[in-house]
Amino acid sequence: MTITTKDLQQLFAGIAEDIAAERDHLCELDGAIGDGDHGLAMDGGCQAAAKAVGALDVETAPTLLFNVAAKAFLNAVGASSGPLYATAFMRAAAAAKDRQTLTDDDFVRVFAAMATGIQERGKAEACEKTMVDAWKPAADAALDAWGTGKPLPECLDMAVHAARVGCDATKDMTAAKGRASRLGDRAIGHIDPGAASAVIIIAAIAKFARRHDG
Ligand code: ADP
Ligand code: MG
Repeated sequence: MTITTKDLQQLFAGIAEDIAAERDHLCELDGAIGDGDHGLAMDGGCQAAAKAVGALDVETAPTLLFNVAAKAFLNAVGASSGPLYATAFMRAAAAAKDRQTLTDDDFVRVFAAMATGIQERGKAEACEKTMVDAWKPAADAALDAWGTGKPLPECLDMAVHAARVGCDATKDMTAAKGRASRLGDRAIGHIDPGAASAVIIIAAIAKFARRHDG
C-alpha cells in the first residue's frame, strides 16, 4: 500500500485519540512509581503533535511532517517522555527522507527507527523497566515478520503482541533508568507507565495499518 501525508495526519490523530482515552490510567501508573504526570505528558504531546501535523498541507513531505511532530511534542512536554518521543519522530523523519509517499517497507523502517531513537536517546537497555521494554521487542518483531514476507498489518499486529508481553514483564523489574530507579525494589509489582503508553501508541499504529489496508 501507499501511505500518504494525509494518511500520516490520520495516524497522528488516531494516536492522540487513543492516548487521550487512557490519560488518567497512565497518570495512575506513573503515580505508583513516578510523579503521576505521564498521562498528562503523553496526552499533551500527542495532541500537540496531531494538531501541528494536521495543520500541514497535504503536499508536505513525510520527512517534514515527522520533524514537525517532533518539535510540537518536545515543546509541549516538560517530562522525560518529551525528548524521547521527539527523538523517535526525528528518526522517523530521517527514515522517510526523500520520499513523497511511504511504501510498506518504508513504514516498517520508520517504525523501527522510532524504537532505535528512543533507545539511543534514553540509553536504556532491555529490562531496565522503561518504554524500551515495549518498543524494542515491538520493532524486532515487526522487522522479523517483515523479513519473512508477512504483510505490513500482520507485522504490526505481531509488534503489538510483543509490546504487550514486554510491558507486562516490566511489572517484575526494578528500574535502572528514570524516576522509578530511586525506588529500588519498591518499583516491583508495578507496570512501567512509559511501556504502557508505548503499547497504546504501537496498537494505534497497527490499527491504522489494518484500516488502511482494508
Ligand atoms: P518523568 O519521569 O520526567 O515524569 P514521564 O512521566 O513522562 O516523565 O515518563 C516516565 C517514563 O519515561 C517511564 O515510565 C519510562 O518508561 C520512561 N523513561 C524514563 N527514563 C527513560 C530512559 N532513560 N530511556 C527510556 N525511557 C525512559
Ligand atoms: Mg512522570
